[in-house]
Amino acid sequence: MIQRRSSRPIQVGSVRVGGGARVVVQSMTKTDTRDARATLQQIQKLADCGCDIIRIAVPDEEAAESLGQIKQKSPIPVIADIHFDYRLALKALKMGVEQVRFNPGNIQEPEQVAAIVRAAKERGVPLRVGVNAGSLPPGEGTLAHRLSETALKWVQFVENLDFELLEVSLKAFDVLATVEANRLVAEKIPYPIHIGITESGPPRTGEIRSATGLGLLLYQGIGDSLRVSLSTPDPCEEVFVGQEILKALELRSGPELVSCPTCGRCEAEGFFEIVHEVEKLLAGFTKPIRVAVMGCVVNGPGEARGADIGLACGKGKGVIFRKGEKVRVVEEKDYLQALLSEVRGL
Ligand code: SF4
Repeated sequence: MIQRRSSRPIQVGSVRVGGGARVVVQSMTKTDTRDARATLQQIQKLADCGCDIIRIAVPDEEAAESLGQIKQKSPIPVIADIHFDYRLALKALKMGVEQVRFNPGNIQEPEQVAAIVRAAKERGVPLRVGVNAGSLPPGEGTLAHRLSETALKWVQFVENLDFELLEVSLKAFDVLATVEANRLVAEKIPYPIHIGITESGPPRTGEIRSATGLGLLLYQGIGDSLRVSLSTPDPCEEVFVGQEILKALELRSGPELVSCPTCGRCEAEGFFEIVHEVEKLLAGFTKPIRVAVMGCVVNGPGEARGADIGLACGKGKGVIFRKGEKVRVVEEKDYLQALLSEVRGL
């Protein structure tokens, strides 16, 4: 079991972050925030696929205005993402968002940061200080060192204003620098830490970079919320990957799909399509079950022994197993229905 780092919890709307609460999965909308309807549709889709909290870019006044309607109808808590203009943070707070994430590196004027802190304090709304490699001030030392020093400087600044509803994030494209920077900061602050590898890339490379970086951090107990940022039009992909990272580390329970890579023994046509369909089917469940889909009836059952439900695919038909026991043979067209009824029956 992973020993989580202890942190002082904050409440982001209905979701608790830190203080031993389960690691929260976040994403960002990719719609134009000024289009409240499209943004709300995307939030609903994200909530349906398991996103706990949504972050929304606030590039201008009109977008900040739109937050009021979005926040009112959103099924999950809303974080306003602010860069450059502190007045947008003030406006977002007025609109009732549940958290504001700002990048002090591009707001710069201490008095403007102080104005955000004071407004958040008045409303009892938590802030996230988000330090990114792309907006660090010039300085000496390694990237990890500069990231952590910058984050600590701003944490101190906010603390001096007698504000403690804080979360902190330090992100870079460099996986090892991100891990090291978070490790340095985690030892020194009591606040929850949001983790992510920024601009991690298109799905395949981004997923690997994120899983490596977040996995290394989570294994050390660091990370109270996370985002997997991917260059993909569908943000649900980010949520899916985030949840899978947590499940792999036993930090979250849910269905797990085991599937074989196939080899020359596989006689099941369309095997990968079957696996893909089962993956989609399991996305609708939250119970911690393990389902195995294997490519042959010879070795498949043995290899899937640890699964709750197994399907060993043969030529045109397959064998369904429950807790290692063979229960029936089904035609290929009935695989999904058969697995569905077995999963429901557990
Ligand atoms: S389960 Fe069968 S098809 Fe899949 S890898 Fe093992 S031997 Fe090959």
